[in-house]
Amino acid sequence: MGNSFVSEGDAKGVGVGRQKTIGSTIRCSGVGLHTGQEVTMTMRPSGPNTGIVFRRVDLPHTPVVEARPENIMDVHYATTLGKAGVEVKTVEHLLAALAGLGIDNLIVEVSGPEIPVMDGSAAPFVDLLLQAGIWRHYVPKTYIRVTRPLEIEMGSRSIQILPSKRFRIQYSMCFDHPCFREQSIEFQVSRRNFIREIAPSRTYGFLRDVESLWRRGLALGGSLENAVVIGEQGALNDLRFKDELIRHKVLDLIGDLYLLGRPLQGTVVAKGAGHLLHTALVKEIQRHLESDQASRCVVTAPASVRFPVPASPKPLGSPAL
Ligand SMILES: [Zn+2]
Repeated sequence: MGNSFVSEGDAKGVGVGRQKTIGSTIRCSGVGLHTGQEVTMTMRPSGPNTGIVFRRVDLPHTPVVEARPENIMDVHYATTLGKAGVEVKTVEHLLAALAGLGIDNLIVEVSGPEIPVMDGSAAPFVDLLLQAGIWRHYVPKTYIRVTRPLEIEMGSRSIQILPSKRFRIQYSMCFDHPCFREQSIEFQVSRRNFIREIAPSRTYGFLRDVESLWRRGLALGGSLENAVVIGEQGALNDLRFKDELIRHKVLDLIGDLYLLGRPLQGTVVAKGAGHLLHTALVKEIQRHLESDQASRCVVTAPASVRFPVPASPKPLGSPAL
């Protein structure tokens, strides 16, 4: 491995070693969280090494956008992918479900610009995918192994990834609300605990932010049916977990990291992070993978990337969405 921070490997010692897709075509419909548009989504099995590919079936020539780091287009309040002017918004909850179930190859057709939000969590996607059945290809899965620490800082927020034998996440967040202050959680991410402990956690938003979000054309499809809404006195709907907010941050992180297209072996430590830092880590890992492959270049430690602090930083409790 030499000086590389990350390397690719086969599934040796990791357990589940073959690429997977789904066994049959499945479909669902619902509104997009931000656009409020009704969308139908059809998921189709696909062959080995195709990855996760979105297809906009409402546009001429049904253009595709691959779930790849180079297609990350916008990370405000949701992760939007884009290529040649074609967008697919809010991909992270579906990607988390695919990561959690270990699905490598899939065609996702959407009849609009955004993935349906369903109930605001990844659980409806998990149920659908399990109904479709999971099929193994006779092709090995590859993993990304972190061999040296990588860290990205942005003011008081940070994300780092450390070498470890398993995929682990430690997430901490200080929410700017009297009922939800400091929350932190730690998971070893397995299929079992993803389905039980992470997938059902819903996106959330603060009532005080709703009008300004609407003015900016965001959260237009948001409601108590698909988000935990937090008013002055606390959550307006029943929580599924006492710490549902931080669990949803973990869900978003798992979805964003899956833009790398392969599972990660490493421990991610996120402090006050969000889509911007999640995807910055994805791009940094991808950059190391490509530069190591291209030139075996020497990367000097410490690998810490500092982003300038925005002039008016948003409070750490701004919506995850
Ligand atoms: Zn989310």
